[in-house]
Amino acid sequence: MIDISKIRSKVEKQRNIILKKLGRIKEEDPFASEDRSLIVEPGTDAAVLSGHERAVVLEDRLKSDLKEIESALKKIKKGTYGLCERCGKPIDAGRLEVKPQAVYCLKCESEIETKK
Ligand SMILES: [Zn+2]
Repeated sequence: MIDISKIRSKVEKQRNIILKKLGRIKEEDPFASEDRSLIVEPGTDAAVLSGHERAVVLEDRLKSDLKEIESALKKIKKGTYGLCERCGKPIDAGRLEVKPQAVYCLKCESEIETKK
């Protein structure tokens, strides 16, 4: 059996970590508070620009993680958490411990991976 309350607190903790990281990226991004259309102005410091690009990439990754986590929380609320989105079978509890935001069972995920 899956311990939903345990998973839920784990997922919520992860969500907080990601939200904190996102906030930090905004603070550290040298362009965050400026008009983005000014980025390509000649004479822009290359080091600052690559710092900005790094921040954008990281921000995108964190946002997609956050989406997965939000949808896991939604499923917990609806009571459909832990079911594979592809075949509808319960996802292995051990797998959910490691990756609480998993949406596919191991079998489906490996099938999806090999199709890529
Ligand atoms: Zn499946």
